[in-house]
Amino acid sequence: MFVSWPLLVLLGFGVFCVGTVVGSFLNVCIYRIPWQKSVIWPASHCPRCLNPIGASDNIPIVGWLALRGECRSCGLPIAARYPLIEALVGLLFLGLYVVDVILAEREGWGQIPVSSLATLAYHCLLVALLVAATFIDYDLLIIPDEVTVTGMVLGVGLGAAFPWIRPEPSTAATFGAGLWVGVLGLLIGGGLTASIRSSFSFLLRREAMGFGDVTLMAMIGAFLGWRAAILTFFLFPFFGLAHAAWKLAKYIGKRLAGAQSSSADREIPAGPYISMAAVFLLFSWRWLWPLWAKNLFDTFYALFWWSLGVDVGPMF
Ligand SMILES: [Zn+2]
Repeated sequence: MFVSWPLLVLLGFGVFCVGTVVGSFLNVCIYRIPWQKSVIWPASHCPRCLNPIGASDNIPIVGWLALRGECRSCGLPIAARYPLIEALVGLLFLGLYVVDVILAEREGWGQIPVSSLATLAYHCLLVALLVAATFIDYDLLIIPDEVTVTGMVLGVGLGAAFPWIRPEPSTAATFGAGLWVGVLGLLIGGGLTASIRSSFSFLLRREAMGFGDVTLMAMIGAFLGWRAAILTFFLFPFFGLAHAAWKLAKYIGKRLAGAQSSSADREIPAGPYISMAAVFLLFSWRWLWPLWAKNLFDTFYALFWWSLGVDVGPMF
């Protein structure tokens, strides 16, 4: 597909707008899915006066700004989180557009391979699912199956239908191979999380991580393959470190002041940080895999066979 620079910029703006619309839909999902409510019906309405939100007030970001964050009928404040999530998803989609389309390998500067647009859509879909999981987990410490099981089905199914779409080296040539890569990613992502969750739960004598984190990791594995899932799992604690330190400081402060602490003081959702790690990998994989991650996996692979006494040739 041949495009000129102005068209590339216009396309980028279009991708951002699609992101804000998806963000608007995700706001509805985040608010309704945990309560088993339909995400399609009824249309958005004010929770106090029940007046439906008009079409022009419902435009992502712009609608909230025009209303100055208040319901048009009764003046009930509308949380700034709604337009912020819309902007966040718009910016994430735009960023993926830069990485997947603008920086994609192509024949000439004006050439966009159609496959890079498909890759962009695939990554945007995963990001949308991760944003929904993040905010539901942040609010309620749960990750509903509606998000993760849907994600597993989409990751395995799309990765089989378009076997070249997963990041290197999890690409495949045929439907069957693509299906297998997705199932393997699902099993290793979920299995690794489940085994570490049960070991920690045993050691700490209380539930460490929720089962929602297991299904979330299975979804990431289905989308990106088992190597990206393993890296996600080992990177996510770094993303959660600041939150954990802040919680710990608050907990110690409470204990020093002699106040009663609750179990909520010791709980941190893992979902948002697993999601952040996965998004980080989505953006950096193009460079991270050839420059660092490939070596890491080759080394572990060689060490594994070496430990079994199998000669697989020179190790480095
Ligand atoms: Zn109202």
